[in-house]
Amino acid sequence: MTERLLPGDPRAAELLLAGSLVAFPTETVYGLGADATSNTAVAAVFTAKGRPHFNPLICHYPDAEAAFRHVEASELAVRLAAAFWPGPLTMVLPRRITCPVALLAGAGLDTLAVRVPAHPVAMALLQAVGRPVAAPSANRSGAVSPTTAAHVLDGLGGRIAAVVDGGPCAVGVESTVLDLSGPRPFLLRPGGVPREAIEAVVGPIGSGITPAAAEQSRTLRSPGLLVSHYAPGLPVRLAASEVAADEALLAFGAPLPGAGVVFQLSLAGDTAEAAASLFTGLRWLDAEGGRLGLRGIAAMAVPDGGLGAAINDRLQRAAAPR
Ligand code: AMP
Ligand code: MG
Repeated sequence: MTERLLPGDPRAAELLLAGSLVAFPTETVYGLGADATSNTAVAAVFTAKGRPHFNPLICHYPDAEAAFRHVEASELAVRLAAAFWPGPLTMVLPRRITCPVALLAGAGLDTLAVRVPAHPVAMALLQAVGRPVAAPSANRSGAVSPTTAAHVLDGLGGRIAAVVDGGPCAVGVESTVLDLSGPRPFLLRPGGVPREAIEAVVGPIGSGITPAAAEQSRTLRSPGLLVSHYAPGLPVRLAASEVAADEALLAFGAPLPGAGVVFQLSLAGDTAEAAASLFTGLRWLDAEGGRLGLRGIAAMAVPDGGLGAAINDRLQRAAAPR
C-alpha cells in the first residue's frame, strides 16, 4: 500500500531517512525520492521504476550551498545557480572526493547531477531530511512523467511507501540538464529553463554540431537520455497537418478539424501553458483514445522557442521507435 500524505506531514522525511521511497511534487514533475547517501535506498529507486542502472539520478538539495558541498562548482556554475536556483535547472559537475552520495546514484560516473527545486513542498522536505535526495521522475521507466499525485499512484502505487500530494506541477516538463564538467557548457536535455535564458547568462552553449552528432554525443555523455521515452500506449505521430477521425489530436493553437478526440495544450499558442499540461494531455488522450478504439495520437507542431524545445524533445521521444 502506498500512503498518500499531505504537504507538511513529518512522515515523509521520516520515511526517507529510514530508507523508504517517497514521491513528492516539484515545479517540474513529481520526483521519486530516496536518501541519496543510502546504497539500498538508491537501488530501490531503480527497482521500483524498472530503470536501467546505467541511467544516473539527479540529486536534490535545499539550497546551492548544500549542493556545492558535494560537487565542485565552477565560476559558471555559481553564476547559473544565482540566476536559476531554486528552479528547473540541473547542473552536471565533478563530484568532490568527500561527496557522500552513493556511487549508484550517479551510475558510477565521476560527475553528479544536482538541482535545487523551486517548490515549497519539495524545499521543506529537503530541509527536513538534511541529506541529498535522489529523485528521478516518479513513473515506471520509459512511461509518461507524472504531474499529479494520481499519476504517480497510477504507475507506482504499491511499489513505493508514500506520495506527498501537492497538487499539479506548474512547469510540467523536467528540468533542463546542463553539463558543466567539460571545457564548455553542453545542453544534455532541454527543459524547464529555456536555452535562450541560459545563454543570456553564460553566452552560447553547445553549438556548431549537427542534430545527429548532438544526439550521439549526448547519448554517450548522458547515458540515460534514451531515444524512446515518455511513451504512451498509442503510437504518436509528429507535426500533424491533418487528422483522421480514428486519431486522437494533441492540439496547439486552433485545432485541426475531424479528430476522434482532442486535447488542447494551448489555444493561445503559449509554450509555457502547453508544457504545463503536456503529460496530462498525453495520458488523457492515451486513455480516451484506447477507450474509443482510436489508432494513434497526432500531435500538432509546436515552435521551438521558450519551453517549445523541451516539449518537442519529449514528443520526439514519445514518437520514437520502441
Ligand atoms: P530523470 O531522472 O528521469 O529526470 O533523468 C535525469 C537525466 O539526467 C538522466 O536521464 C541522465 O541522462 C541525466 N544525468 C543525471 N546525472 C548525470 C550525470 N552525472 N552526467 C550526465 N547526465 C546525467
Ligand atoms: Mg524520467
